[in-house]
Amino acid sequence: MNKVTNGCDSHALTQGLMSAEEALQQLINAAIPVLETETIDVTLSLNRVLAENCTSDIKVPPLDNSAMDGYAVASANTKEGNSSLRQSQRICAGDIGDTLENGTIARIFTGAPLPKNADAVLMQEDVTVKDDLICFNGRINKGENVRYAGEDITIGDKVLTSGLRLRAQELGLAASIGKANIKVFRKLKVGIFFTGDELTQPGETLAPGKIYNSNRATLHGVLNSIGCEIVDLGNIADTLEATKEALLLAASQSDLVITSGGISVGEEDHVRIALEEIGRLSMWRVAMKPGKPLAFGHIDKTPFIGLPGNPVSAFATFYLFAAPFIKKMQGMSKVEPDPIPVVAGFNHKGGPRLEYLRGRLSTNDQAQTVAEIYPHQGSGVLMSTSWADGFVIIPINTDVKQGQLIHYLPFKNLS
Ligand code: AMP
Ligand code: MG
Repeated sequence: MNKVTNGCDSHALTQGLMSAEEALQQLINAAIPVLETETIDVTLSLNRVLAENCTSDIKVPPLDNSAMDGYAVASANTKEGNSSLRQSQRICAGDIGDTLENGTIARIFTGAPLPKNADAVLMQEDVTVKDDLICFNGRINKGENVRYAGEDITIGDKVLTSGLRLRAQELGLAASIGKANIKVFRKLKVGIFFTGDELTQPGETLAPGKIYNSNRATLHGVLNSIGCEIVDLGNIADTLEATKEALLLAASQSDLVITSGGISVGEEDHVRIALEEIGRLSMWRVAMKPGKPLAFGHIDKTPFIGLPGNPVSAFATFYLFAAPFIKKMQGMSKVEPDPIPVVAGFNHKGGPRLEYLRGRLSTNDQAQTVAEIYPHQGSGVLMSTSWADGFVIIPINTDVKQGQLIHYLPFKNLS
């Protein structure tokens, strides 16, 4: 016993546990993409997964145009020293001007097409206006303050690739090539419920012995951020019967069931047993910290992921395991996050389980990216998840010394 508690016998501590890498691979291999698609308004497609390649049949911008408010000229007509040219026309954004009369200049505004025979724009700050004469100094280079047709996108360019999660910038990009509607995979329906007779809904009075259900809000947040539809069955009583009923109901209404709590070995942990009775359990213990219990299985054909109840463990196991599984079901082409190398800004003693410490990045005097860790790393310390920007990964049985290179997973890379 001594051997186990002092951390010397890592084999005894990790016996019967699956490695985090193997658990993730098992999950990813078991996830089956939902292939149905729908075509929706681009402005409503944030966080959805693209189900088509988008190729442009226009140039962006469509015409050579001015990058500044100023004056369009033929650069060959400018020279060293002072010049003055007569303003022959005025071109606003949205208009098409006339061919630039030889030896004249055209008033032009940002985004307005360059008139024929003009090839540069003088900034309005660099001229003085005397009646209809525009005075300036020096030669103007061809192309100065000009945005060329197709310099962003040209005809035939593939601008978006199927399997990509759409961010605000992709919505804008699709709109820039004229797409009003976009084909996306249909929303994944995720059934969720929460076990624990100690749980109280926020807004209600907290009776002695009770705690607020924070995992519900966390799960709504993370599922919304990755474009899922939520079927929320709320809190379920800590009994085997109620748990079985909830699992069956959730499975009948969704593509995936996710629960929190009730998967450890206590007598009040009914989720694992319920799943074994009504479905199949494929794994339930992973050698990681936080989050050792993590259940995975099926209820008929509906996959099931049981997250641990501890709030930090639920948060971590969601991002590290449930999110890649969901991404594959959603049709995403890339489901595993890439850790980035950073410098440790702390010392840490490793243990027999892979650790995901809550950390955040800053830049030190030598311009290195350094990870700091939250001082309290307990699996119930939800403050750590809000303070942090990502997970610092501590490999099994590895002591980390300040200044050493380590791997870091930014939370934003996980969704
Ligand atoms: P369990 O996994 O059910 O053994 O729960 C482990 C710990 O997490 C216990 O301290 C629970 O009170 C707590 N817990 C379980 N579910 C939640 C929840 N939804 N919100 C906040 N804490 C929870
Ligand atoms: Mg419980």
